[in-house]
Amino acid sequence: MSLIVMKFGGSSVGTPERMLRVANRIMERQKEGNEIVVVVSAMGDTTDDLIDQSKALNPHPPAREMDMLMTVGEQISIAMLAMTIDGIGGKAMSFTGWQAGMQTDNSFGKSKITNIEPSRIFKALEAGNVAIVAGFQGVSDAGEITTLGRGGSDTTAVALAAAVGADVCEIYTDVDGVYSTDPRVVKNARKLDEISYDEMLELANLGAAVLHPRAVEYAKHNNVRLVVRSSFTRNEGTSVKEEAIMEQGIVVRGIAFDKNVARISIMGVQDVPGVLANVFGALANNGIDVDIIVQSGVQDGKADFSFTVSGTDKDKAISVIEGIRGAVPYRETDSEDGLVKVSIVGAGMVSNPGVAAKMFEAISTLGVSIKMVSTSEIKCSCVIASEALNEVVKSLHTAYGLDTEEQVFVGGPAERR
Ligand code: ASP
Ligand code: MG
Repeated sequence: MSLIVMKFGGSSVGTPERMLRVANRIMERQKEGNEIVVVVSAMGDTTDDLIDQSKALNPHPPAREMDMLMTVGEQISIAMLAMTIDGIGGKAMSFTGWQAGMQTDNSFGKSKITNIEPSRIFKALEAGNVAIVAGFQGVSDAGEITTLGRGGSDTTAVALAAAVGADVCEIYTDVDGVYSTDPRVVKNARKLDEISYDEMLELANLGAAVLHPRAVEYAKHNNVRLVVRSSFTRNEGTSVKEEAIMEQGIVVRGIAFDKNVARISIMGVQDVPGVLANVFGALANNGIDVDIIVQSGVQDGKADFSFTVSGTDKDKAISVIEGIRGAVPYRETDSEDGLVKVSIVGAGMVSNPGVAAKMFEAISTLGVSIKMVSTSEIKCSCVIASEALNEVVKSLHTAYGLDTEEQVFVGGPAERR
């Protein structure tokens, strides 16, 4: 007998028919002889609708009340799913976050799980129930209802899987699994059978919306086996695990992109110690995430540097920099939005020279200029103009052999280490 956590996203339970399909799927899995814990999100667009309704009452609602409101969405889902299972002759019990022992810190809207005390879940399972837990919510030490941040139900599922010692955490969603890139951009995008935690983490952080990055991190640290699969089809899905097999020298496993990037440059900055700390400290204090940072050579004791932020943060970032001009004198700033960041990701890049060069070549062959670059052991990102996004992603997808089952080697076989 296996213990399985099955997580269903909002679109999988968006209508009564879908709810029934999910209930049948759960019963099937239980009848195979498994114990089942279910985590479910709010139905369809419920969370967005609740946010819109709250904004109509108060554009800046108190964070505590916002969490009180948003957790309602998941609470509706768990009760309805439990009723649906009962209706088809099964046994199910629903639990809110606090009933499931989901303890968090005190930060409303973005709380972190601090501990899980799943004794009620175990009791429900022992009595033959499917245990249905509300995603995305918990309770703080102070007894307040909290949420884990948008998309947090994935994290609930993985954390619960770790806490109950589940054999696998299955994430059911509206796509077949993790793809080599966004199928809306590249028709030939392929579903991956396997991917490593690190690769998945990069893809999730770089904008692949199929799994929440925090959930992947949690899975990696707790060694939870994850499977991403469709709630509408029987297809196998994608398995996320420690070492995905290095199929025939796969170098690049996927291509991700972030469509909302802005560049800010600060020119003519005095080249003295502490400048970068000042600038990026001020940006961090204002809650602005900085991504790629590039400093160019120093001339006459003055340096230029550029960095990227999300397009939404551009104006705020510029005003923060203007605000510290007294502490960090500079000649001028310059900025540009309408940029995108395209990234190739693959654990095999570490031991294969020439992977980045191939990317630069593919992009330059299209006559597209690369504005910024950043690399890590398993990814290489280029910032380009957004008009070029689709052709660049298509061309990279082909260049790295992702269009076909057969993968290409770049730069010879992987080194033995
Ligand atoms: N319902 C929440 C949201 O829409 C949590 C989730 O779906 O994971 O963000
Ligand atoms: Mg989601």
